[in-house]
Amino acid sequence: MLELRKISTYYGNIQALKGISMEVAQGEIVTLIGANGAGKTTTLMSICGVVPPRSGEILFEGRPIQGLSPNEIVALGISQVPEGRRIFPYLTVAENLDMGAFLRGDKDGIRQDIDYIFELFPILADRRHQAGGTLSGGEQQMLAISRALMARPRLLLLDEPSLGLAPLVVKRIFEIVRKINAESNTTIFLVEQNANLALKVAHRGYVMETGQITLTDAAGNLLANEAVRKAYLGI
Ligand code: ATP
Repeated sequence: MLELRKISTYYGNIQALKGISMEVAQGEIVTLIGANGAGKTTTLMSICGVVPPRSGEILFEGRPIQGLSPNEIVALGISQVPEGRRIFPYLTVAENLDMGAFLRGDKDGIRQDIDYIFELFPILADRRHQAGGTLSGGEQQMLAISRALMARPRLLLLDEPSLGLAPLVVKRIFEIVRKINAESNTTIFLVEQNANLALKVAHRGYVMETGQITLTDAAGNLLANEAVRKAYLGI
């Protein structure tokens, strides 16, 4: 579904991605793990057109997407949930969800998706008239995921959904990520520093170090890998 071929991305003269290649198949949950500053967020920014790569190719369902605008990329079926959530704090929960559907005109479909989201996250239904900024961190993460789902993506990109959240909330969010993948056949690319949780939910994983992919395998094999356990699982 998604293929990165030798992607190099820069911030000015700083090369953040050094010719990385990776792929995500339809229906998978694939995780990208790595330390702070490894280039994980830059990988997502490159895919969704916010920080376009300087060289290499990104194919979505066989079609090159590098060089397209972020809007065009969303319209093709890729949505991102950014690090730090970035919901609209002064808009209500319902208005935040509407913003996620801004490219859509199918009113019935939008209503169905809102019902599905309120089923996934009943707390958002209770708070639908509350301003986004008044929600807890976990609820804001749920809202950010829901807003991205409102674009009906076929590929959902998640950037560190566990960041700054209590372990129980993180567990709940990861359960929902698995449910979204299984129920609505949404393919998921998950960037995480919490390697333990990410590898438990994912089918496959990539390990990134200083702008390069150093390892890739089935998630279970990475969880059992001695080097991964030492570097990322603290075992
Ligand atoms: P984190 O977990 O902290 O988000 P990361 O793995 O997502 O880390 P990136 O944020 O992609 O890493 O950063 C990769 C490299 O690019 C780092 O060396 C970082 O300092 C640099 N970088 C990131 N954003 C910018 C920017 N806007 N301008 C210049 N350099 C940047």
